[in-house]
Amino acid sequence: MSQLDKLEQLAISLHCDVRNQEPMRKHTTFKIGGPADLFIVVNDVPALQAVYTAARELSVPCMVIGKGSNLLVRDSGIRGAVLQLGGTFLDIALEENNVLKAGAGASLATVCGYALQQSLTGLEFAWGIPGSVGGAVFMNAGAYGEEMKDVVLTCTHMHPDGAVETCTAQQLEFAYRSSVYQKTRGIVLSVSLQLQKGDKQAIKAKMDDLMGRRKDKQPLEFPSAGSVFKRPVGYFAGTMIEQCGLKGKTVGGAMVSPKHAGFIVNTGEATCQDVLDLIALIRQEVKAQTGILLECEIRAVGG
Ligand SMILES: Cc1cc2nc3c(=O)[nH]c(=O)nc-3n(C[C@H](O)[C@H](O)[C@H](O)COP(=O)(O)OP(=O)(O)OC[C@H]3O[C@@H](n4cnc5c(N)ncnc54)[C@H](O)[C@@H]3O)c2cc1C
Repeated sequence: MSQLDKLEQLAISLHCDVRNQEPMRKHTTFKIGGPADLFIVVNDVPALQAVYTAARELSVPCMVIGKGSNLLVRDSGIRGAVLQLGGTFLDIALEENNVLKAGAGASLATVCGYALQQSLTGLEFAWGIPGSVGGAVFMNAGAYGEEMKDVVLTCTHMHPDGAVETCTAQQLEFAYRSSVYQKTRGIVLSVSLQLQKGDKQAIKAKMDDLMGRRKDKQPLEFPSAGSVFKRPVGYFAGTMIEQCGLKGKTVGGAMVSPKHAGFIVNTGEATCQDVLDLIALIRQEVKAQTGILLECEIRAVGG
């Protein structure tokens, strides 16, 4: 029995949903990506601890994903196991003092909807970011001048050795599209968000306004992973790419969106290589014309 087979048997015994050679294009908003050897949906912390630590002992590479909205998965797929958080990781609850506790697998959309229902303000900026709570903390996702760091009170995570710990926002080293988890590889299990009592109509109006702005400016009708590049200090990546004459530029099925040059869209049959080649072309051209080397926000994985 191979190490992968042993991990699969363990995951099945723990009532995880396990799939072999699962196409990752089904789990990324880019709709790009070859197969993961094993795709495992884990439903609670004990199962996650058991599967993750067993993978380490068996030397099977293992990564956790959220909603795949910031991921570019290579065409050859992902060797080893990809874990997604389901079951109790989707729970959302209201605690004292307007603190909302959300499992890392819950979608930001669901959490924003829950906050609205409870007339809690503070999370409106996240309405329209198509990720999970765990992915949003990992990336310190943000929009319209606010980011996760403004609302995270505490975060509970699992260390790669299986130990669980809760820490404060100050310990998470939040910075622009970055958190401590990008260094430690800890897995976010749940997050407590400090919100405030607000007016339901006003919260709804802000959410509608921000969603309207997204629909006006972003190519939401095509698969993508959002902004490809981080914002260079003092500039907007999309504007720079547009000014370099790259709007509408294509490589294979990948295209610089004519609507928003900061996005690369999959026009139908784009491969990961198409996107990587287009990224390389953009970086080279922008560097040549402006002297600035763009840094990727999206994360290429697999291979
Ligand atoms: C149309 C569109 C619009 C977008 N708009 C915005 C925006 O306005 N602002 C913004 O910041 N982003 C935006 N994004 C990008 C993306 O939605 C965010 O980066 C989001 O936070 C990623 O969350 P995810 O759950 O999809 O993570 P994934 O893409 O699945 O994963 C991203 C990284 O997080 C890690 N990760 C995921 N879950 C966990 C966990 N539980 N514990 C530890 N690590 C974990 C993964 O290993 C991976 O390295 C947009 C994307 C799209 C497609």
